Amino acid sequence: MADRTVGLVGLGVMGANLARNIESRGHEVCVYNRTTETMRRFLREHAEGHRFRGMETLEELAAALPSPRAIILMVNAGPPVDAVIDALLPFLSPGDILVDGGNSNYQDTEARCARLSGKGIEYLGMGVSGGEEGALRGPSLMPGGSRQAYDHLEPVLRSIAAEADTGPCVAYVGPGGAGHFIKMVHNGIEYADMQLIAEAYDMLRRGYGLEPQRLAEVFSEWNSGELESYLIEITADILRTEDDQGREGLLLDYILDEAGQKGTGRWTTKASMDFAVPTPTITAAVDARALSSPKELRTHASNLLPYRDEIEFGSHETTSQVREALYASKICSYAQGFALIAKASEEMNWGIDLAETARIWKSGCIIRARFLDDVSAAYRIEPKTPNLALTDRFVGEIASRIDSWTEVVVAAMRAGIPVPAMAASLTYLNSLRTRRLPANLIQAQRDYFGAHTYKRIDREGDFHTQWY
Ligand code: NDP
Repeated sequence: MADRTVGLVGLGVMGANLARNIESRGHEVCVYNRTTETMRRFLREHAEGHRFRGMETLEELAAALPSPRAIILMVNAGPPVDAVIDALLPFLSPGDILVDGGNSNYQDTEARCARLSGKGIEYLGMGVSGGEEGALRGPSLMPGGSRQAYDHLEPVLRSIAAEADTGPCVAYVGPGGAGHFIKMVHNGIEYADMQLIAEAYDMLRRGYGLEPQRLAEVFSEWNSGELESYLIEITADILRTEDDQGREGLLLDYILDEAGQKGTGRWTTKASMDFAVPTPTITAAVDARALSSPKELRTHASNLLPYRDEIEFGSHETTSQVREALYASKICSYAQGFALIAKASEEMNWGIDLAETARIWKSGCIIRARFLDDVSAAYRIEPKTPNLALTDRFVGEIASRIDSWTEVVVAAMRAGIPVPAMAASLTYLNSLRTRRLPANLIQAQRDYFGAHTYKRIDREGDFHTQWY
């Protein structure tokens, strides 16, 4: 592959590592950072023997790049992206390429694509997943926007992406904000995966009384089967890690139980409302993080409404039931995320390939998992399926786990152990497989108070009744 010269703006955690990754694949990288000292430090630490060139101004950066210029922005999402674009524009020419590799909101990316195409700039909004390690060694890349820009940069992107057994984890996702949309849903699914694992852990530990050492073994065992994934693997490691501040026992036990979030999970939930595609497991995971935050309130509530000290939960042998509940819940959570992508793609005319989406998440990103091969295969065979959980590949997997899954959720409810994501997945499935939901009563109520009309099951047309 011919080497290229690319520009990179923003040498923070992600930008610095991505710049090093690009250079390590044989390309020259012209680096710029708003705070010049950061750029100088980067050069002091990484430039020797490598093809980096430091730029002190954006004008200098633009002048250093061959035509068409290709500049990757790795700055914070939101106003910083527009600030950099506006500052760069006077130095760019039609045909030049800008790539936003941050976690931008897909609607912002849509607007930027439209604005910049009017100026002849080829714009890509590219989701980058895998954290700093991924950025350095090979992330999962989700580029969307200008096809021309993608085709030009494809050799570079393929060279820096994570390599899976199914090829480099990058593909053109679709026009406009398609790339940032699937990155957002990826993050929503990541929230759900993490919450589901946390619930399984809580049940095994508080419910079944498993000691940390045994818990680590259980997660390691799970990592050799259908649940094999990066998140299960790191959970096993976490359950083996002793406190690093000199206290006895697991480090995990000294970590404050308030989960942080930066917003992409919340965006997924908001998008699910906007596109009217339910994602209850993802939403439950977002809510669970928010619920964990008022620690004082939870301590107060636990004093007012304590639950039994002795939890009667079950026997140790039933850990396999938790495994089944976790896997079935995960299938339903992915079914929700992919249904959201499918609907958004249809409404926005993005033409997103769901099998390819699963394929490029196979390596490099946080939700990487063996399971994604099955998801990809399911969508390859049934690309128009309305729901992943109902495909030939998954319906049997779900059916064989429903009893265990239900028992686990019921046992957790009895014990007062919150399992919002597992229960949301189970309720999602139960709603899907209920032939007649009580939505008829809701329609009757709507017609009663608001003359909203209803449809009948035995005749065509819209009906209104004088109910009283
Ligand atoms: P950092 O906070 O480490 O770096 C931010 C960079 O943006 C710095 O170079 C900063 O320059 C620059 N910047 C901020 N505001 C402006 C501005 N107004 N004009 C010019 N430059 C500006 O962030 P990260 O590297 O962690 O994240 C970058 C992007 O990547 C974000 O969108 C983030 O959401 C996304 N991302 C992050 C991941 C992670 O694991 N950290 C994973 C995947 C995506 P200066 O030094 O002058 O402040």
